[in-house]
Amino acid sequence: MTGYYLEAENATVFYANIMPATSARTILAILMGDPVTHSKSPAVMSAAAEAAGVDMVYTACRVQSSDLAQAVDAIHALGMVGANVTIPHKERVISFLDDLTAAARAVGAVNMIFRDGEGRLVGDNTDTVGFTAPIREQGLASALVLGTGGAARAAAWACATTLGMDRVLVCGRNTEKAEQLVVDLNTHADSSVQRAPWEDRSRLAGTVDLVVNATPLGMAPHVDASPLDDPSHLSAAQLVYDLVYNPAETRLLNEAKRQGARTQGGLDMLIGQAAAAFHQWTGKDMDLDAVRRALTT
Ligand code: NAP
Repeated sequence: MTGYYLEAENATVFYANIMPATSARTILAILMGDPVTHSKSPAVMSAAAEAAGVDMVYTACRVQSSDLAQAVDAIHALGMVGANVTIPHKERVISFLDDLTAAARAVGAVNMIFRDGEGRLVGDNTDTVGFTAPIREQGLASALVLGTGGAARAAAWACATTLGMDRVLVCGRNTEKAEQLVVDLNTHADSSVQRAPWEDRSRLAGTVDLVVNATPLGMAPHVDASPLDDPSHLSAAQLVYDLVYNPAETRLLNEAKRQGARTQGGLDMLIGQAAAAFHQWTGKDMDLDAVRRALTT
């Protein structure tokens, strides 16, 4: 076995070489965020590259806010194919880019950067594609989106435009943020997103085809939390979509199932947004089964 030795505090440690072979043609993409140690993106992209036979390295880089401009410059300087962007940089990164796609402009957040034919850095929002993929064939006409952050913006925009819903309600605990979201989305897209009071969310949840949790309520380690204080309004006619993917079965989804509703967890969205980025950077489709296997083993 090949490897190398490093002096640790009281011992010499042998590190085995477990990295796949790279070459002078290896392409590079990164995730930039802070923190990044929890991210599943390197596992997703590495599995996708291996399955597609793409000579690519994808790694997560902790980028502090004060270093964001230099990190974006590094995409140019090091000839990377692109980057993913995560918390807390999705909005601020926009000011360092050359252009935005229509989705990124409307949502006001970038989670993926690619280089166009002229080498300019373009920001896109593939959360919208990832959100839509698992639910697009379900004939949904109305939605309630819980939350007013980046994921809520992507979900509300996708419901109002890609999915062409007639009625899209957004509610969040911060009224000003909810109002701003509605103004921004209705300015940049041909949509009619409406704000709804946070206190009315449980009752309103019973009036739509689709309920979306775009808050971290229910995410590990706070698995006992749920964005709906009263799930009894849910019914079998509805789909409840939790963007949280850890745990796979959140309290909201369990309660929705008990009411007979169909449910959708956040893992497919995570994979879907990555698949759109992978295709943009490499021209190849992501092998979704290979990626799912990599995430569950
Ligand atoms: P974000 O920008 O920080 O927004 C979070 C939203 O949740 C804000 O509206 C926030 O309200 C609200 N919120 C937070 N704690 C709350 C509480 N205790 N009660 C009520 N509302 C609360 O985060 P994000 O990027 O939109 O992500 C939201 C969730 O979606 C996270 O769990 C994230 O993991 C998930 N997500 C999943 C995917 C996927 O691929 N599956 C992709 C993106 C995000 P305030 O503004 O008032 O704080």
